[in-house]
Amino acid sequence: MSLHRGTIENEIPEQYGSNYGVLKGGMIMATPKIDMDTCIGCGLCSELCPKVFELRDDKAWVTNPAACDTCDCQQAVDSCPVTAISME
Ligand code: SF4
Repeated sequence: MSLHRGTIENEIPEQYGSNYGVLKGGMIMATPKIDMDTCIGCGLCSELCPKVFELRDDKAWVTNPAACDTCDCQQAVDSCPVTAISME
């Protein structure tokens, strides 16, 4: 399932589990998306970007894509052992 929505940063719900485009300065930023069927729940992404990813029920969720500018989400993408994260 690919859910992709543009939204204004301060209107992003506090917690959600899919990917949203984040509007900053008129530009939609790429945000991480997790393939839940592929994720093995290792927790590496939430260790690298704890403000963006959260483990729940042994799966990673993108809880705050707007925080991607506080870490290196691309590192999480590149480090995922099963290539479950993409930036869209
Ligand atoms: Fe899942 Fe990949 Fe995150 Fe590990 S790094 S929890 S496999 S998305």
